Amino acid sequence: MNKLPNLPLVHLMPFSEVDEKRPALLITSTPAWNAVKGHLRGLNVVAMLDVTEATPAAWDLLLSSSSTPEMEIVYAVGGGLTADAAKYMARKLNLPLTVLPTALSVDAFITAASGIRRDGCVYYIETKVPETLILDLDVIAAAPAHIRAAGITDVMSIATGSWDWKFAHERGQNPPGMEFIPWVYENAQSILNGVLDCAAAAGRGDQEGLKTLYDCLAMEVQLCNQVGHARPEEGSEHYFAYCAENYTGHGWPHGDLVGPGIMLMSRLQGQATERYESALRACRIPLDRIPADLTAKTLKNLPSYCKKHGLAFGLAHTLEER
Ligand SMILES: [Zn+2]
Repeated sequence: MNKLPNLPLVHLMPFSEVDEKRPALLITSTPAWNAVKGHLRGLNVVAMLDVTEATPAAWDLLLSSSSTPEMEIVYAVGGGLTADAAKYMARKLNLPLTVLPTALSVDAFITAASGIRRDGCVYYIETKVPETLILDLDVIAAAPAHIRAAGITDVMSIATGSWDWKFAHERGQNPPGMEFIPWVYENAQSILNGVLDCAAAAGRGDQEGLKTLYDCLAMEVQLCNQVGHARPEEGSEHYFAYCAENYTGHGWPHGDLVGPGIMLMSRLQGQATERYESALRACRIPLDRIPADLTAKTLKNLPSYCKKHGLAFGLAHTLEER
């Protein structure tokens, strides 16, 4: 990659003050739209798409069913899947994109890539960074408690992802372009500490806590943008989530899979896990939703799964050594 993506311009403002005259393509999910449409009468929606799947084929099909020539901007209202689909579509249509998160559930609102499902794994394809993000902290505070601050898992994955990055370095397993960089590692630890400190406030829907959670998400994403890869924040905990999804079925919130992944992997890495557990619990991340037999099956298959999908080296690759 020879581009360094930036972050969207953020407007902290009520959705009810959005005043968009340009004809807009709205990408959303029905529950999210129903929750906030009363605040968004200022949108000039000329076409609306309800996204339920994370594949380019599904997104292309939706687009071909609804493209109208007068669309001038894309709006995404909802969670991570909505944002990923909207980034893909806005790029294809060559239109600007404004994202309106209804919860701080993932980091996808501000990244330059879209996660897609292929062959039982999650891959990231380069799409685009939204030009604008509108953050209404009242809307986010009113989101369902287990979703509103679930994006903490995409910052807390620094705990296990950075550990893996250093572990790979010690084993000589980092390929060119992913070399271990001590100051980046230290920056990531500092972001991790910030998010652990705001977890209780963000979890109870406190506005300052949610703003700090957003700041931590933004810093985590930009740190990865600068180095051109996600090793500071993506490792065995995400691999566990990607693999487990094959057994749990699709459609679970990202945090419901990544949260347990962080707990399992940090324990196996020999880390002190109390702070992690209380932060995840404070943000209402369910840590016992995956049945024990599916967790065991995932852990057993994880080393071969990681090798099969070419995932960057981490503890998960070595579980059979234990
Ligand atoms: Zn993630």
